[in-house]
Amino acid sequence: MQINVTRSSVAPIEEYIKEIEPLWESRWLTNMGVKHNELEEKLREYLSVKNISLFTNGHLALESVIAALGLSGEAITTPFTFASTTQAIVRCGLTPVFCDIKPGDFTIDPDKIEALITEKTSAIIPVHVYGNICDVEKIEKIAKKHNLKVIYDAAHAFGVRVGEKGAADFGDASMLSFHATKVFNTIEGGAVAYHDDSLTDKLRMQKNFGMETQDSYPEVAGNAKLDEFRAAMGLCNLRHVDAEIEKRGRAVKRYIERLDGIDGVKVWKPQIGVKPNYAYFPVLFDKDKFGKSRDKIAAELAENNIFARKYFYPITSELECYAGRFEVQPTPNAKHAAENILTLPLYADLTPDEVDMICDIILL
Ligand SMILES: *Cc1c(COP(=O)(O)O)cnc(C)c1O
Repeated sequence: MQINVTRSSVAPIEEYIKEIEPLWESRWLTNMGVKHNELEEKLREYLSVKNISLFTNGHLALESVIAALGLSGEAITTPFTFASTTQAIVRCGLTPVFCDIKPGDFTIDPDKIEALITEKTSAIIPVHVYGNICDVEKIEKIAKKHNLKVIYDAAHAFGVRVGEKGAADFGDASMLSFHATKVFNTIEGGAVAYHDDSLTDKLRMQKNFGMETQDSYPEVAGNAKLDEFRAAMGLCNLRHVDAEIEKRGRAVKRYIERLDGIDGVKVWKPQIGVKPNYAYFPVLFDKDKFGKSRDKIAAELAENNIFARKYFYPITSELECYAGRFEVQPTPNAKHAAENILTLPLYADLTPDEVDMICDIILL
């Protein structure tokens, strides 16, 4: 048997078949159909956000909102993320300016942002990495003071709540990913949650070839629509997502019981005041104290058919596609995390016995 870092959640197949059956009648398979619109409304409620716009994936959602906000120049972001965040910034013609992270929760260090602001800066694009929420208040203050837009990469933060607020409700906009490997999936899919109503038409044009009416194309844009079949998958999976998150939480509890407090092992813990979604279970290993390096542990797990992942290595400022293109400031905390962190398998169906088996190998 093989254990991977994640395993996609799927609703019962009968439920999905029932959901897609009407599409054989309507023959409306994509282009903002009934399922798409129903999912948009249900997600708006579930996530407690003012507005939401669905996309074919999270990456194009991020590119689309960068374009819809008309950003240019420089964007301050973190290199401790999936390649997508930085690739979106660069593909939209902006220069990424890399800010270091906090060693505790791996989110952008707000105290290091202001030193990076220049007259070319138009936005801050932080990441709620592992579902850990950024210091949104400090970031908002800085953005207001310098007249910058804030877009959160909230790909990991589906369903996370900060007090009464949904995690996708901060900043000017947040990008969500509904990729198969995420806590909630539409197979591939994503969204932009946002405040300003004037973005509604702009985002719609961004996902639909820049088209305003059949005869008018005010924007240069591509195609990033979510089709009816994937929206139907989302409607089914949304009914089960709370139960899935609860089950993930049980596996996390077991991991913490087994690994917390061991010398040289720093486990993920929920932030204070935050209702987590248990999207990932990252563990930071200190080789000198624990005796084994992150890479050694990953290799030992792999020998036992258990595939953890080095999320996130390398830091995106070191991706070879950017070599020599940008002036990169050192980000020592991000670099240290990237070299020592291992994201352990975590999904709703991961049993406590499997967690024990994984921990036994790590602690051997
Ligand atoms: C998954 C992910 C994305 C991209 O989302 P897709 O839906 O796969 O395009 C972007 N940023 C982060 C941090 C991610 O984990």
